[in-house]
Amino acid sequence: MAEQKIDLRNLKAGGFIKERGKDLFTVRLRVPGGRLSVDRLAKIAEVAQKYGKGYVHLSVRQSIELINVNFADFDAVVAELGEEQQKVASCGARVRVPTACGGCEYNPNGLVDTQKSALEVDDKLFGTATGHHKFKVCFAGCPFDCPKSATNDVGFQGAVWPRLEADACIGCGLCAKSCTEGALAMADGKPVFDAKKCIYCGDCIKVCPTSAWSAAKKGYTVRIGGKWGRRPLVGTLYATFVPEERAVDFIAAVLAWYQEKAEGAGRVRLGDIIIREGWQSLLDHLRRDFADFVVAETTAPQVIVNQIPLPGQA
Ligand code: SF4
Ligand code: SF4
Ligand code: SF4
Repeated sequence: MAEQKIDLRNLKAGGFIKERGKDLFTVRLRVPGGRLSVDRLAKIAEVAQKYGKGYVHLSVRQSIELINVNFADFDAVVAELGEEQQKVASCGARVRVPTACGGCEYNPNGLVDTQKSALEVDDKLFGTATGHHKFKVCFAGCPFDCPKSATNDVGFQGAVWPRLEADACIGCGLCAKSCTEGALAMADGKPVFDAKKCIYCGDCIKVCPTSAWSAAKKGYTVRIGGKWGRRPLVGTLYATFVPEERAVDFIAAVLAWYQEKAEGAGRVRLGDIIIREGWQSLLDHLRRDFADFVVAETTAPQVIVNQIPLPGQA
């Protein structure tokens, strides 16, 4: 009988990644925002026991990977995972599964609902072919930025703009003490706000005993053009206080620019296209639909030099 031919590129696009061993694959599962029910987790464990090596790998982007799955079992694996609505992720030149921290639901630092945003992006944009290279999105709930949003093609970071109701202030000074950025100082018994130093973390709002501080606006700070790998880039600031409900549209707008500008460039990430085309082009494009949120100017993605000099080289 003729041996069945495997199209490895198609399989990889579908989340099945060839391993070293003959006919063996890693199956990458779709876990947007890194959260899943324990029922689903139990099903994954059952499938890993039955078709894999008996353990799973947690990827750096919050996916669960089944190890050592024979390609002859793919249909059965997909069907059995489907009993708990668990889907297989995709790889290749597509919008990948978004990552996210826990966000505001239970995390005391969280300012926005990152999990909801991740689910919306997964629902509306996951798997969209970019035509060029992978496209990664990440949501951090606050400026601590545990998920390292700026290392993604589009990285979102929760932020809140504090507003003072001076009449409600009793002059306790707690807000100024809590502000690690030096954006608040007490003068004549009232806090004085320095917007240039504020990173929009909301600590002053949380600590104020009289609710004199409140949120004037809340949303996402957005950095664009980051990536990791052999030639890392750190994304730079393009927009502030983008409302949570507009995150999907914002990503779609960035994606449309990337798809157009990278035409014919081959396998090139967004950050490199920004460096080639200039940040102004992307900023102008985003200004059309997001004029209230884009910054006046930005910079190109920041290059992380990772070349290791040989001994004796300067
Ligand atoms: S980024 Fe903020 S909200 Fe998210 S896990 Fe870190 S501290 Fe918590
Ligand atoms: S924490 Fe509230 S009450 Fe205390 S100084 Fe700051 S604004 Fe005033
Ligand atoms: S939001 Fe954060 S950085 Fe800004 S003034 Fe309040 S505590 Fe300071």
